[in-house]
Amino acid sequence: MIPALMPNYKRADLAFEQGEGVWLTATNGRRYLDFGAGIAVTSLGHAHPKLVKTIAEQAAKVMHVSNLYRVPQAEALAELLVQNTFADSVLFCNSGAEANEGMVKMIRRAQFENGHPERTSILCFDGAFHGRTLAMISATGNPAYQKGFGPVVEGFDHAPFNNTNTLREAITPHTAGIIVEPVQGESGIKPATREFMEGLRAVCDEYGLYLGFDEVQTGVGRTGKLFAHEWYGIRPDVISVAKGIGGGFPLGAVLATEELARHLTPGSHGTTFGGNPLACAAGVTVLEEILSPDFLEHVRTVGDAFGKMLEDVVSRSEGVFDNVRGLGLMRGLHCVPPVADVMQAVLDQGLLTVGAGDNVLRLVPPLIVTEAECREACERLLKAALSLKASAAQEKVS
Ligand SMILES: *Cc1c(COP(=O)(O)O)cnc(C)c1O
Repeated sequence: MIPALMPNYKRADLAFEQGEGVWLTATNGRRYLDFGAGIAVTSLGHAHPKLVKTIAEQAAKVMHVSNLYRVPQAEALAELLVQNTFADSVLFCNSGAEANEGMVKMIRRAQFENGHPERTSILCFDGAFHGRTLAMISATGNPAYQKGFGPVVEGFDHAPFNNTNTLREAITPHTAGIIVEPVQGESGIKPATREFMEGLRAVCDEYGLYLGFDEVQTGVGRTGKLFAHEWYGIRPDVISVAKGIGGGFPLGAVLATEELARHLTPGSHGTTFGGNPLACAAGVTVLEEILSPDFLEHVRTVGDAFGKMLEDVVSRSEGVFDNVRGLGLMRGLHCVPPVADVMQAVLDQGLLTVGAGDNVLRLVPPLIVTEAECREACERLLKAALSLKASAAQEKVS
């Protein structure tokens, strides 16, 4: 018989009842080091005292009022984002896919209002991941996510990632804008090259297109800058944000320049839950922490040290891990055996990770992680590699 909870996830047989910082305690009593952070979400770690206090206090006052009224918490969070980014205005929603939908709608609407109603197509890239709504499985383009869910939504084209030469060929009279992840996450932690990012901006300026970054995974401090595009010095027109911005509370956002944002006139777009007092109070606390002096410097320092430790893991685990990629606290280890086997071996050592495409083990710990905790994680990775090698040798013998 089908379980009451729909079977659309492949879940580990493990449930957690208490977290603290980078640690989670399972119902079986075992403690785990959490380098998955709920897929790059719990940016301040588990049970962060300030975030817990904010949510408890806000819940006791007012959780939801709808966008029929002013929401001071949303105004405060938008103000913080505008002050600290390229953006002039912010739209709140509830998830990454929804943020990307908002980003696409803004791009199309702006082209429409600017006298280009024929410009409706969004250029995306091979290996992208933009979410699971009907439009976003089209944007993602991966047939595995589309199977049986057709007809696919029109208006999304694809070109090779990190290939500046094929970029111009992909632009048509119908192209409205370009959307790219500064570091592809789901498909295996692949940073865009500087040349590619510069090429994207140049092409957008040349053809009058809008450049959107999907910063759902890379944003809110993950790579050591507030947003990953800052590493490249490239100005976007619009970005989507979710995952880490609520620290575990569901929250998404679209950050845009006035040129795009001004076309979302009253009634043009909306969501019931988007930007509610509880979610935005959580977002304000998360952002205040991340913008506090030294926080991002901490992410960069620990992230660099972690990167070096992972290089060392690679050099000492031949036949299991063969390269490390990524930046800041968004890292991937390329695996030789199937990543699912590696994840299990790593889990057996009490370390939580996330799989990614291209047979990559994803390491995205809470941003408050210390160097000592990174060292502990690397020791567990090495133990897991040893156990995998031992069982592979065993298989050869038998
Ligand atoms: C996770 C992710 C999404 C989808 O976010 P949801 O909140 O699951 O809808 C979109 N884009 C990127 C880059 C992501 O990593």
